[in-house]
Amino acid sequence: MENIAENIAKIKAEINQIRRGAELIAVSKKQPVERLIAALDAGHRVFGENRVQEAAGKFPELRNEYDDIELHLIGPLQTNKVKDALELFDVIQTVDREKLARKLATEIEGARTKEFMIQVNIGEEEQKAGIPPQEAAEFFGFCKNDLDLNVTGLMCIPPADEDPTMYFGLLRNIAEKLDGNLKLSMGMSADYQIAVDLGADYVRIGTGVFGAREY
Ligand SMILES: *Cc1c(COP(=O)(O)O)cnc(C)c1O
Repeated sequence: MENIAENIAKIKAEINQIRRGAELIAVSKKQPVERLIAALDAGHRVFGENRVQEAAGKFPELRNEYDDIELHLIGPLQTNKVKDALELFDVIQTVDREKLARKLATEIEGARTKEFMIQVNIGEEEQKAGIPPQEAAEFFGFCKNDLDLNVTGLMCIPPADEDPTMYFGLLRNIAEKLDGNLKLSMGMSADYQIAVDLGADYVRIGTGVFGAREY
């Protein structure tokens, strides 16, 4: 097995050296539960999953053993899974359309979820989820003011195989114009150093922590 404790320690040290305060989200999708337990036993508590159903199969049980786990949803959310997602995730990072935002607001009473982030389709790619950059301000206002959702940040996945620098900078510019306190979720295994350097508050790292995923 990968040396998960060592990977986590190394990544955290590296992040802190670039800029203090950025937080590691260990992305545990498609990873066997033993690897999650290795991360938990190393003291790590913040995890990311991209599917509601998969997360629902792992985390309620893990929370019986480790009650301070913080779980982030980083994948697309269908409206028929909203209730389940609100029971399971502490943060939903992928609010990306009006219909979903409305449904979240309707179902929020008694939810575990306390924070929402807006996913921005930063490269304006047709196949990718997210609000187009030029509509981010309006959507942010809608979520915050009309729906009273606690929007705490923006999230993006830049186009694959391109230098992400410009896209990370763009997300930061959008956030700063909206509200100086918004958090940024950006950076994965391949580019988290750049993201932290450009102001990421959360980096989402899967294979860099756990090794290759099992499909
Ligand atoms: C899978 C995933 C990650 C982690 O990817 P790695 O390359 O394994 O670090 C980060 N963000 C999102 C949205 C993902 O789906």
